[in-house]
Amino acid sequence: MNRVYNFSAGPSMLPVPVLEKAASEMMCYGDSGMSVMEMSHRSPVYEKIIADAEAKLREIMNIPENYKVLFLQGGASTQFAAVPLNLIGRTGKADYIVSGQFSGKAFKEAQKMGYDVKCIATSKDTNFDRIPVVTKDMISPDASYVHICFNNTIYGTKYSYIPDTGDVPLVADMSSCIISEPVDVSKFGVIYAGAQKNMAPAGVTLVIVREDLLEYGDPKMPSMLDWKLMAENGSMYNTPPCYSIYVAGLVYDWILSIGGLDAMKERNEKKAALLYDYLDSQDYYIAPVQKDSRSMMNVTFVTGNEEIDKKFPKEAAAAGLVNLKGHRSVGGMRASIYNAMPYEGVEALVAFMKKFAAENPKA
Ligand SMILES: *Cc1c(COP(=O)(O)O)cnc(C)c1O
Repeated sequence: MNRVYNFSAGPSMLPVPVLEKAASEMMCYGDSGMSVMEMSHRSPVYEKIIADAEAKLREIMNIPENYKVLFLQGGASTQFAAVPLNLIGRTGKADYIVSGQFSGKAFKEAQKMGYDVKCIATSKDTNFDRIPVVTKDMISPDASYVHICFNNTIYGTKYSYIPDTGDVPLVADMSSCIISEPVDVSKFGVIYAGAQKNMAPAGVTLVIVREDLLEYGDPKMPSMLDWKLMAENGSMYNTPPCYSIYVAGLVYDWILSIGGLDAMKERNEKKAALLYDYLDSQDYYIAPVQKDSRSMMNVTFVTGNEEIDKKFPKEAAAAGLVNLKGHRSVGGMRASIYNAMPYEGVEALVAFMKKFAAENPKA
């Protein structure tokens, strides 16, 4: 069996020790006599699995006591609707910063539901090649929340700072950067993330919400979107995505085993630096993102020649480097180098890029 270096934006690579552990427990978890897939979510064995997963995540992210951790379903996209349903009751209005496709979708979802929402900043004019500048005076003081997407998976941009929104709660979609580095949770009202980029297989969506924000939900909202109801039921109002939560727990174990998020950040910075330093050192490939907005997780680049851009991912795949084609709205290439991508994978990519450039002159 030959595993490839998988640069997919999501679902994406999981750490090998996690896959091995899951495989070893596939037929029988502990002395339960069954797979986690086959287990009642109300059983004491499973209750311990979900409680341990939450405890480990709290440890890794240093989540303050006054925040609830929810393991939900429906992906980050379902939270685009859940965010206004749970929060807009605070003041009846909300602000959005549109820095790419996902934050644009979140904004549109709230608009579609008829809410009074405003886009206060966007980088659409420059095809989302940067994080728009956000200063405190741009925030509506009477907004229920300000919504941002912290790392823009498609364009390869990330906030290099946490916007200061004063007393207005900051809500962040962190689907593609969650647990990639330490973040000060107390600066956010809500953090949410689909798991399939950096945390687990698809199926579980994480919501971290400050307790005092659980009081503003629309009474008519569907129960499955109701954070307060989910919090009161320990994420088990209905059947949770049991197996994905179990794998998330294994991923948290792995992060703890390598030294937590400080160590994770160091690894991720080293990988991203290798790729960006190479991109900056030559002129065959162009990195379209402004330097101060570069993502550590998703690295985009183009050659400026459509034919060559098409050829690159094909030849890379033949060399064992797969899923490097950029998103259709950007073109070119995208290397997603999440937590589970080893340094050697990025080394292999840079070596391939050098060889490819030498073999495929543009003029
Ligand atoms: C992938 C992604 C989404 C969509 O997630 P789903 O779980 O597929 O709904 C939303 N936001 C960001 C930042 C993403 O990377």
